[in-house]
Amino acid sequence: MKLTIVGTGYVGLVTGATFAEIGHQVLCVDNDAAKIEKLRRLEMPIYEDGLDPLVRRNVAAGRLAFSTSIAEGTAHAEVIFIAVGTPPGYRGEPNMSYVERVGREVAEHMTSYRLLVEKSTVIVNTNEQLRRTLNKYLKQDVPFDIASNPEFLREGTAIQDAFHPDRIVVGVESERSAALLREIYAPIVERSGCPYLQMNTASAELTKHAANSFLAMKISFINAVSRICELTGADIDQVAHGLGLDRRIGPHFLQAGVGYGGSCFPKDVDAFVRMGEELGYPLDLLKEVQKINAAQREHLMRKLQQELWVLEEKTVAILGLAFKAGTDDVRESPALYFVPRLLERKARLRLWDPVAREKFDLAHPGLSYAETPLECVRGADAALVLTDWPAVRTANLAEWRRAMRCPIVIDGRNVFSPAQMAEHGFTYHSVGRRPVAPPRPPL
Ligand code: NAD
Repeated sequence: MKLTIVGTGYVGLVTGATFAEIGHQVLCVDNDAAKIEKLRRLEMPIYEDGLDPLVRRNVAAGRLAFSTSIAEGTAHAEVIFIAVGTPPGYRGEPNMSYVERVGREVAEHMTSYRLLVEKSTVIVNTNEQLRRTLNKYLKQDVPFDIASNPEFLREGTAIQDAFHPDRIVVGVESERSAALLREIYAPIVERSGCPYLQMNTASAELTKHAANSFLAMKISFINAVSRICELTGADIDQVAHGLGLDRRIGPHFLQAGVGYGGSCFPKDVDAFVRMGEELGYPLDLLKEVQKINAAQREHLMRKLQQELWVLEEKTVAILGLAFKAGTDDVRESPALYFVPRLLERKARLRLWDPVAREKFDLAHPGLSYAETPLECVRGADAALVLTDWPAVRTANLAEWRRAMRCPIVIDGRNVFSPAQMAEHGFTYHSVGRRPVAPPRPPL
């Protein structure tokens, strides 16, 4: 089947390549000409494990192509997926201007039936706004459908998630759109055996926001428990293990840490809260989730500040700039919180990340980067772990101990064990676990 994906970012590119791999004829459209040029040269604009060979294979097979033209995209396929960004906008509302623009532009180029599928994360009933937009801007009297097909992939495991999703959710209002989406997804449902859920459009839109808000809530919940652990001497690893074995709770998203970030949870929780306010049902529960998340970063910052006392002239090694391991996405990453605050206090920073350096540099130009974690911590007065990259998890701590000026580690991801850090003589603060302080040398 011929498919168009508008928006060739983390979601659009992975979705396009996945659809091509299962045999569809896919055109990925983006209005960022530099990105499309890069893709035409087979250079990946994002880091995602397995994406490069997937794109190459499908371009070579003639099933995947790239364009900057919405007109071409609209002409190419009966089904058009909208995968553009919905970043935070005014007072927590998502900025829907990108989605609206795609609606307008597609409408202006439509000459026969089209199904527009919202893959971007949107607030409930966006489909109605999109319908109104199309009706306003259509140049010819042609039929169309709007459907919702929220995306649940996780950066870092996006390809695996796309081929083996936990579920596929589609929201439709007509037999025709239901049949089209079922046909598109049939190979994935067949291969993976995943549930295929068809519902009305508003329910599909809401499912996505509710899922992300719930996951954010789980993270904030365990982070709140971690604070109680710190105040009582309980250990968050043991508590989370005990909690997670309850099948009603499950072990996922129970890792205490520096808080959630990324391009989805913060803005989606914001949007959900804002939607609740507009509907007259304030979601105070989620406001608390946001407060706990913000407090977690501040709490870690305080730990660092308490250890170093004065930050001016201190070298702080920052390990991890991506919002999580496995991606180069730095949107709302913890590093974006810490770096400006440390610079304000005149700390000297040395940064390391295996893949996110280029994107971080765009947000914060002119900082000093290290090639390896060891080089990053060399001569540092403290190291701050913000992403649980395997290269940090498996670091040679004896080497770190020798390389650092002061062996202080503030671990926002609990990548090390307190016992291991004590053994190597570090001063070590993590989340929800007892701090480690080396014995004082005799006077
Ligand atoms: P992104 O910023 O990586 O990609 C969006 C792309 O859309 C960009 O390349 C941009 O140039 C392009 N674009 C914007 N306006 C356009 C237009 N008018 N015409 C053509 N292209 C246009 O964003 P993303 O991370 O892929 O997220 C896209 C949507 O998917 C968002 O709503 C997000 O919330 C949702 N989502 C993201 C993830 C994730 O992990 N990133 C997961 C699930 C859902």
